[in-house]
Amino acid sequence: MRRISPTAFRIARRGTSREINRQIALNLVRSRQPISRADLARLMGIRRGAISRLIEDLIRTKQIFEGQHFEAQKGENNKRGRKPRHLFIETRRHCAIAVDISAARTLMQVVDPIGEPLLGIEELPARPRPEGLVRELARSIRRILAAHPEVGHCLGVGVTVAGLVDPERGRLLYAPTLDWRNVDLREPLEEAIKLPVVLQNDVKACVLAQVWAARGHAPVDGPVAFVNVSDGVGVGMAIDGQLLRGAHNSAGEFGHIALSMDGPICACGRKGCWEAYASVRATIARYLGRDLSWPGSAKPSKTTVASIIACAHRGEARAIETLHETAYYLGRGLAMVVKAIEPRRMYVSGDITEAWDLVLPSVHRAMREQALIPELADYEIIPVPLGENPRLRGAAALVTSPAFAAPVVA
Ligand SMILES: [Zn+2]
Repeated sequence: MRRISPTAFRIARRGTSREINRQIALNLVRSRQPISRADLARLMGIRRGAISRLIEDLIRTKQIFEGQHFEAQKGENNKRGRKPRHLFIETRRHCAIAVDISAARTLMQVVDPIGEPLLGIEELPARPRPEGLVRELARSIRRILAAHPEVGHCLGVGVTVAGLVDPERGRLLYAPTLDWRNVDLREPLEEAIKLPVVLQNDVKACVLAQVWAARGHAPVDGPVAFVNVSDGVGVGMAIDGQLLRGAHNSAGEFGHIALSMDGPICACGRKGCWEAYASVRATIARYLGRDLSWPGSAKPSKTTVASIIACAHRGEARAIETLHETAYYLGRGLAMVVKAIEPRRMYVSGDITEAWDLVLPSVHRAMREQALIPELADYEIIPVPLGENPRLRGAAALVTSPAFAAPVVA
């Protein structure tokens, strides 16, 4: 149920029902392609004539196209002697660019209008100043688009960054790991590349990508959470397909909720935050026997979570113990997320997922201890492998998903 706003309402016009049905048809083509006109009409429960009008609209606006589907063609051709035609999302000669900025490096990839990669991932080195990074990004984007005319017209650039972001003004408000504050990222980049740019927090974009996933798990209604464990711990939340942003786009900062009021000092300056126990930094400090408190925990080290996982797989007791302890704290925080929004689906990404089978019992132990009702004890958590590049997929979704969104009605 959604309340009708007495100030920001939208009344139904002559074309409203057609607009809604067109978006439904578009989303059905997206999730079921290749699909025939007859199957689409049947799924929507409308007549062939009505479906034809919707399809003509979508073909005219270049959102879908009708073509032959090779597999279907083989079987049906023989029976009826004519080539069956199917509907597809128009992904030809259109692209979007996904950019993920983090302290270690910036990644970039060209994708099609449903977020599928068209070219390999490009890596740009870390830059101490945002101005330098924007210049380098603009140069790379221009170079890639010039070198690959086959990717077609670029719809825009989605940029994700680990930090607090104001998407309306295109500003990065605060990124602790980059040590950037109040930086205008969108305007200088748009100015340099003459393309629209959408900026969003990395984990918020990750949950958006899962909600809009073209492949993999079928979308669910209700709350969905995405937890990313890296230098910090970030949580993105969506409800009924809509990002939960809060008044200042800062909803979901579970990483800075304290598990203990006198725990280790966090990068945010407060004590005992979830992230001070469960982040990559905390895991490495724990393994090395260092204090978990910031800034000591951020001291450079050759040890990585990947190397600790490798030691654990070789049976090293200290590595196994470290991962279980991190996993336990991860579970404590996940229990907090469950208490807050009880997600219908919860995703976890980060290096720790590479040892998921090993650490899952400790995650579940912590969650069971915190569960208020037995139904919440054995919560299903879906690990997102590093190889899926969830943050780049998120950046892509910033540009590609609005075309498929439900129209605003009432
Ligand atoms: Zn904190």
